[in-house]
Amino acid sequence: MEYEVVIGLEIHAQLLTRSKMFCGDSAEYADAPPNTHVCPVCLGMPGVLPVINRTAIEYAVMTALALNCEIAEFTRFDRKNYFYPDLMKDYQISQYDMPLSHDGWMSVEMADQTRAMDAPNGASPAESTERKIVRIKRVHMEEDTARLLHRVDALGETYSLVDINRAGAPLMEIVTEPDLRSPEEAQQFLMQLRSILRYLGVSTGNMEEGSFRCDANISVRPRGSTELGEKVEVKNMNSFRAVFRALRYEAERQIEAQQTGGRIVQETRGWVEDKSITVSQRSKEYAHDYRYFPEPDLPPLVFSREWVEKLRRGLPELPDAKRERYMREFGLSVYDATLLTEARPVAEFFEECMRQVTGTANVPAMAKAVSNWMLGDFRRLLNETGTEITASRVSPAHLVGMIEMVDAGQISGKIAKTVFEEMFASGKRAGDVVAERGLTQISDVSELEQVLSQILDANPQAVEDYFRGKTQSLTYLVGQTMKATRGKADPALTNRLLRELLEKRRSA
Ligand code: ADP
Ligand code: MG
Repeated sequence: MEYEVVIGLEIHAQLLTRSKMFCGDSAEYADAPPNTHVCPVCLGMPGVLPVINRTAIEYAVMTALALNCEIAEFTRFDRKNYFYPDLMKDYQISQYDMPLSHDGWMSVEMADQTRAMDAPNGASPAESTERKIVRIKRVHMEEDTARLLHRVDALGETYSLVDINRAGAPLMEIVTEPDLRSPEEAQQFLMQLRSILRYLGVSTGNMEEGSFRCDANISVRPRGSTELGEKVEVKNMNSFRAVFRALRYEAERQIEAQQTGGRIVQETRGWVEDKSITVSQRSKEYAHDYRYFPEPDLPPLVFSREWVEKLRRGLPELPDAKRERYMREFGLSVYDATLLTEARPVAEFFEECMRQVTGTANVPAMAKAVSNWMLGDFRRLLNETGTEITASRVSPAHLVGMIEMVDAGQISGKIAKTVFEEMFASGKRAGDVVAERGLTQISDVSELEQVLSQILDANPQAVEDYFRGKTQSLTYLVGQTMKATRGKADPALTNRLLRELLEKRRSA
């Protein structure tokens, strides 16, 4: 029997607001000592009243709009009651049956499934694309919990510490319908969702730091069946790769259980990274376990359509739209356009480069050259030095200036690599680097002929070989010329002049 995997995701993203969700404490606590960003509200003291963070609501609605959701006209908060030491009030303020948005969708580009997905950053974009619509069930707001740190003391006794800084931080939850069909698709969805959140500037989307977390629901069923199987919720993954591996493990476990007549029970399992397995944590809880009821301390919210439309108009151009435009306007391939639009600062750098290009330039050729540099040497140097593109000393004008020197034949493509490294390190313009280091291409015929005569004199065997019809010896002679000129000889001219000089010698 063949099985099909069914996956639905619940994503929690911390929002980049200055203050917490319901009080004025700073939400920027990442580098703060434990328990310093606290107040009576997020400590859950009796008699305090929460106040809704307007920016957090705006960020969540912007996200919902970017995910094509319906925005509620009327929404409210509810209390979700449960008892756990990370919860100061013994309830979490969340949203239950009247979320701020519902019924959206996201178009996901499926990477080439044959590529290795077990890589730290997932697959590279496909050369050809297959798109898939993943329905979004809802986007809603809630508050984050405190952080528990589990420790073992010198005598081997376990104890736990609690850091309340995170309690009350604004947390947005995004829930998908069970539309994903493989761990690869789930990973791809997450990466593209993160890219959207970063474009919007609403979240850092950082999984390792826990500001972007994913609970994955997964079930299997016989292929062709339309009923959903019993699902398991997997938690504790703190990287894209961990999500992929946990789902792959869980899919295999469930398929094997079905094949051997076992039963899947509805439960929550945790991913154990160093053992690469999931382990049962607790049996699944149901909504009624939480005794939800409307939060009496907060007013419901009424969203006017004008306010919603204003937010919609303020959305930036998103990665999908940008990619399509790059292909249309600049003639870039899907592959290049996808990589350039993944992160907004990179896309903006590219666009600034294209604005620097003069009207007479061949736009697609320039776009391709800029793209090649940005995705090649530039990207490599940024990675190697851990530099963000926005902090790079190479400006769009500098990059375009260098590419124009290559186009004009002032430097060869090979020399350009050296020039670029120097530009990257020093922030100098290409022209200055070339002048200072004497790297101008030799395209002067008489100057080059002189060098070539010396090369031919010094390599009688190669000349002889050439006369006997061994064409490889020409390649060898070009190589010798490049070596002698430290790469400055114009390659096309070198080739032409070499042939001419050799023919002259043959007839002499
Ligand atoms: P619950 O009420 O158990 O939390 P929901 O209907 O709210 O379940 O769904 C929670 C998440 O689980 C959603 O992302 C949804 O897509 C996913 N999900 C629901 N049923 C299944 C299933 N049978 N297999 C995989 N994922 C599922
Ligand atoms: Mg749920």
